[in-house]
Amino acid sequence: MEVSAASSGGGRDVGLAELIFAPLRGPIGVAGAKFASAPWGKFAIATVTWILLLTLAGGSVRFYIDWEKSRFRWFASGTGGGNSTPVYSQTPGGLWSDWQSEGLRGPFGNIAIGIPAAFCGLVVLVAIFLGPDLHSTRSIPATLVRAARASIGASGWLLIVGACAGIGYILFEFHHLQLAFGIADQGSILFAGAIGSILLMLSIVGRCVVGARDDSAPYQGPPRCEGCGYELTHVPDSGLCPECRCEVERSLRPGLWRCGIAWERGERGTAGALLASAASLILAPRKFYSCLCVRGDDRRARRFSAWQFRMIWIGAFVWLISLRTVLGDGPRRQDCVALALIPVLAGWGVWRIMAAISVWWWYAAGELSDPRWSRKVVQYEAAFLWTFCLVFGSGFTIGLWLVQRSVTRRLPLGWFFGIPLPMLFFLASVGTLVLIGLYRYRIALRAIRWANF
Ligand SMILES: [Zn+2]
Repeated sequence: MEVSAASSGGGRDVGLAELIFAPLRGPIGVAGAKFASAPWGKFAIATVTWILLLTLAGGSVRFYIDWEKSRFRWFASGTGGGNSTPVYSQTPGGLWSDWQSEGLRGPFGNIAIGIPAAFCGLVVLVAIFLGPDLHSTRSIPATLVRAARASIGASGWLLIVGACAGIGYILFEFHHLQLAFGIADQGSILFAGAIGSILLMLSIVGRCVVGARDDSAPYQGPPRCEGCGYELTHVPDSGLCPECRCEVERSLRPGLWRCGIAWERGERGTAGALLASAASLILAPRKFYSCLCVRGDDRRARRFSAWQFRMIWIGAFVWLISLRTVLGDGPRRQDCVALALIPVLAGWGVWRIMAAISVWWWYAAGELSDPRWSRKVVQYEAAFLWTFCLVFGSGFTIGLWLVQRSVTRRLPLGWFFGIPLPMLFFLASVGTLVLIGLYRYRIALRAIRWANF
């Protein structure tokens, strides 16, 4: 009950029925807050209920897909060719007895074991990737518990998205709904749907994590010298730090040294401030993080990272369309909207992996007086993804151009220890950028570890 006592989102105790239906009611993050503060007994009952609901929904979709597939087996046997009305080789009852005869080794087992296992996997992934958002002044187990509570808070909307994705798959794969829109193949739509659903689910879980985190008690440590971390409680405001001879006033007076960044000034961030902050962040991280106020509300910082992903999507779309126009080659036009989501998804993964490595390390080693100060750093580091976009975008464009001009045949593109050279180049670029990214987190840590604001 240690966790529930200090939660911000739902200080009051909620009824069991209200808690069970919380994932379907109100803004998405509210469910995360309710589950974060729920007593253990109620949380366990709600968890079991939701895993059962998810299992039931997953089972229904799987059953329907199996039944639809029986139609294709019947056509394949050649006895029904030319018949335009759908005919099934199996009745639902027949399929049901098939399922029963296979016992737990068949679809029953897949669903009954698969769905709870997937939920446990979700909790582990939330703890690893979104842990930086969940860390509080408490222990590592507290972060893991919050990851479980945030995951069950997200379950209702995951159920809705999952069910819509399943029904969409059935409609497009078996009922050729794409013909109603005048689109020839279902591949593009299924691909777009799959990537879109994954991104939507990430966004839902992210909101629940924000709802479930612990923001109750603001940090109340002694003021420290921004230069060296010396405790300034008994040093006069007008004096110098006894350790590093830094002016005490610079550390303690708001807005003097840690004066805030362009994007966080004013009522609402402007496009100019967004670009200015992103540029200063990428080019001069040390200066950026020594100006950044790390305490308090991180809504503006989260909006900053959301804008980076939107712009990456638009940028990738424009780039794909330009490739088609300039080179006369590249992906089909109808695939470009969905293909432009791939850099967004890949970028999210790379961004979160780098954040997880750095921030989990800081958390375990107790590097920050308040682990919550790392939240803004993670959000702003999303801007570093532009270097990945630049490297891969130009690499892909040059590669495509070389292939088109048949120059590649004359280039010494061999193998190196069994790895094709282009692949080796790709791996080396990712590795280098990730190392730079991790080094940037180190710069950020040094700039914020003694922040007074
Ligand atoms: Zn000092």
